[in-house]
Amino acid sequence: MRNTLLALRAGHVFDGTDVGRSGTVLVEDGVIRDVDLTGATPPEHATVRDFGPDAWLLPGLIDAHVHLCWDAGRDAVAHVASDDRDTVLDTARDAAATMLRAGVTTVRDLGDRDFLTLDLRERVPAERRPDIVAAGPPITTRGGHCHFLGGAAEGAAELLAAVRQRAERGCEVVKVMAAGGNMTPGSDALHQQYGLADLRLIVDEAHRLGLRAAAHVHAADTIGDVIEAGFDTIEHFSFFTAEGIALRQELLDEVVRRGIFVSLTVGALPGMVPPSPTAAARIGGLPDLVAKVVASGARVVPGTDAGIEPAKPHDILPQALIQLTEYGMPAIDVLRSATSVAAEAVGRSGRKGVLRAGADADVLVLGDSPLADMSAVTDILAVYRAGRRVR
Ligand SMILES: [Zn+2]
Repeated sequence: MRNTLLALRAGHVFDGTDVGRSGTVLVEDGVIRDVDLTGATPPEHATVRDFGPDAWLLPGLIDAHVHLCWDAGRDAVAHVASDDRDTVLDTARDAAATMLRAGVTTVRDLGDRDFLTLDLRERVPAERRPDIVAAGPPITTRGGHCHFLGGAAEGAAELLAAVRQRAERGCEVVKVMAAGGNMTPGSDALHQQYGLADLRLIVDEAHRLGLRAAAHVHAADTIGDVIEAGFDTIEHFSFFTAEGIALRQELLDEVVRRGIFVSLTVGALPGMVPPSPTAAARIGGLPDLVAKVVASGARVVPGTDAGIEPAKPHDILPQALIQLTEYGMPAIDVLRSATSVAAEAVGRSGRKGVLRAGADADVLVLGDSPLADMSAVTDILAVYRAGRRVR
């Protein structure tokens, strides 16, 4: 219904930055009109939804790294590479609905096939999907990591054309496979796919056109070039070497100094099967690395890689938040990382990730305190997307 004033009330409010008590979020036309933390009575004509003294109001969560077109099955790569467009679009539609039910109201899709997330954004109404910041197919080398998504480009002319194509199509971010990956047959995570000059060219053109730039990188040897090229977010940041994981403190310090966002690949169901024995050997050192990155003061955001395999279903973000607390991140910082900080990382500052006048009314209502126990993020009483209740 239009022009109806909705008052969401709860005993506690996390507004994206800080915590307040006895809050009321006033919603009109899908947008937050006001947030009251004084306990004042809502306007008389408002429709009041009071979730009670134990409940928490939070901004809807943001997953900074997802794959809507991937079905989270054992053969996710084969399906996204070979299924017909309508089948992939159905997969993406289901994935989007699953995320919304988990309280994930904004996602940054960092690898679709053939720009299908843009079709999804157009065809599916807002209340049935999260807000989508789309990269389209990642830019990669011929036969390189995730080449089957349709984003192969090499050499200055092709790279510039690839960035411009994404801007014209309505993407808001460019994703580049700076080095190889674990899931593509024939790709080696340690192999650098583009040199510094190419990476710079892509980032500069993206920024010139008002797009942000995200770099996929596991390889320790490639991270320095990614930092130097000026990427806004670094995905994975895993410091893989031939000998395992080896954090380079000077690179982490530089990321902190420059304020680059680190999109940490957290969130997985138990029993995750590594894609190869090499990957298995490498990822043994991941918990220690993640703990160090979290403690460094870097601007960390959770990017789950949801969709790529069975351990990463599309609604895995709440698990990622629980894992971040296990890695030593204070609960309040975990909440910030998946709301206001993530909004900044994905280019939605002020509109998403905050409960503040003027922001979109994407609201998550929990039954208990996530500060006391982060598993409360799975105790969902309601989800609102653009002011409409979707759960
Ligand atoms: Zn990914």
